[in-house]
Amino acid sequence: MGYKSDIEIAQECEMLPITQIAQKAGIDDKYLEQYGKYKAKIDYNLLKESDKKDGKLILVTAINPTPAGEGKTTTTVGLADGMQKLGKSVMVALREPSLGPVFGVKGGAAGGGYAQVVPMEDINLHFTGDFHAIGAANNLLAAMIDNHIFQGNALNIDPRKVTWRRCVDMNDRQLRNVIDGLGGRTNGMPREDGYDITVASEIMAVLCLASDITDLKNRLARMIVGYTYGKPSEQKPVTAGDLHAEGAMTALLKDALKPNLVQTLEHVPAIVHGGPFANIAHGCNSVTATKMAMKLADYAITEAGFGADLGAEKFLDIKCRMADLHPNAVVIVATVRALKYNGGVAKADLNNENLEALQKGLPNLLKHVNNIKNVYKLPCVVAINAFPTDTKAELDLVEAKCKELGVNVALSEVWAKGGEGGLKLAEEVIRLCEEPNDFTYAYELEGSIEDKLNQIVQKVYGGKNVVLTANAQKQAKQLEALGFGNCPICVAKTQYSLTDDQTKLGAPTDFEVTVRNLKISAGAGFIVALTGEIMTMPGLPKVPAAERIDVDETGKITGLF
Ligand code: ADP
Ligand code: MG
Repeated sequence: MGYKSDIEIAQECEMLPITQIAQKAGIDDKYLEQYGKYKAKIDYNLLKESDKKDGKLILVTAINPTPAGEGKTTTTVGLADGMQKLGKSVMVALREPSLGPVFGVKGGAAGGGYAQVVPMEDINLHFTGDFHAIGAANNLLAAMIDNHIFQGNALNIDPRKVTWRRCVDMNDRQLRNVIDGLGGRTNGMPREDGYDITVASEIMAVLCLASDITDLKNRLARMIVGYTYGKPSEQKPVTAGDLHAEGAMTALLKDALKPNLVQTLEHVPAIVHGGPFANIAHGCNSVTATKMAMKLADYAITEAGFGADLGAEKFLDIKCRMADLHPNAVVIVATVRALKYNGGVAKADLNNENLEALQKGLPNLLKHVNNIKNVYKLPCVVAINAFPTDTKAELDLVEAKCKELGVNVALSEVWAKGGEGGLKLAEEVIRLCEEPNDFTYAYELEGSIEDKLNQIVQKVYGGKNVVLTANAQKQAKQLEALGFGNCPICVAKTQYSLTDDQTKLGAPTDFEVTVRNLKISAGAGFIVALTGEIMTMPGLPKVPAAERIDVDETGKITGLF
């Protein structure tokens, strides 16, 4: 039997006008800025002016995934639809998709099957222009840096030490490393440069962590763009504030800071806003979006990128700490496919029943459950995201094993059935939200960078310790000397393993994690710890998804998954 594609299902949905969705969410007209019939931005002043009590906050995360994604967005949306069916006031907060994956391999990020947010074509393409605004602000700063050097370089910036890169929201490996400023004296200072994908720009992380316009401007001013000439001990960081760029950048970003309102297929109000990388940045939608969803509904459900070792860890240790958020429950998405993958089955064989491998992969799930319950001290439930290829024996086995081990578990069939398929999960989440909890971070901010890394490696990954290369040790000393020692840490590592080696699946123990590079994102306010080369400008695959996408005379898009 063939299944309808995500876009076919999405296009069958009879969307409600966004004004009706806003009404349902209790958004006063004066806070609503419409972008056509089905999209709107919400004025952030609502956050300050509403006196409604904040709703409960639910995080959706996952076990270590397969390369195809395990359905966190799908589960987030379907869970909200399920809660609505139970009569609850609920909203979702999700990330905005990047054009890179849309035209590359992974596809859109608006959910799947009968659990999607719509209009999915718009959400996946341009949307309300936020990413373009971020790209413009990023590239304005780049232009101002090179112009400053060209115009006499009063700040003494070493052109070989400019760390700020240009960006574009596209997978374009050709731009990873470029030499620009060629053409003689009047055409700039030649230097090695490069492009990142827009979602990897620090401005994306800044926008997502900013609490308001003033905070946004202050964070932008703090961003480091490069270093001055001199011996390593004499080099001083140069910031966007030194270049007086923060005002103009904020002007470009003032609307991008406002969260976007759309709806799920079942007309639950949904906020889709911001989308930082989940490796070199923290990988969650904006703080404004999360707070807005909590302000408007009794239950706000949000998602963090990658598996729980990266996504949930950063959501809890970075975002919740910075924004003073206190989650009430966590949903850990597991799939039969990912469990088999963690049990050693090759990607090509994941569709075949394999109970033995399934059991072998379970320790990965248990490690994540244990982290949420015992490290972060939050109530959690495992959502088994049922795929059409799963056999009943496989689904039964996961459920039985979880129950045997005392792990809360609910089968989720939201991809196939929408909210109806998420009722059991919804009931369990509602119950968990009533449990008191002692939310705790995995590490405190005081202490050395190495200390903090050790705590993440030991508590969250289950490893022995961190190893800093000589280079990273030097960088740690420099960052501590510059006063960044007490920032939270954002680890950039593979999403496929709890270790820094993507071939080590399951729940390894006794391993070391090697950090090769430490960088400060001073505007975002975290230290990025790189365990290897992390790609900040992806490339397209041999057959990009772009080759299948088309649009007919009426403007109807096809092939977007
Ligand atoms: P994540 O947010 O974890 O990356 P998504 O929710 O975006 O994952 O889902 C990734 C892809 O898998 C999407 O194309 C989605 O349609 C598909 N998918 C998710 N859940 C299911 C399911 N239960 N059955 C079939 N396909 C699914
Ligand atoms: Mg997702």
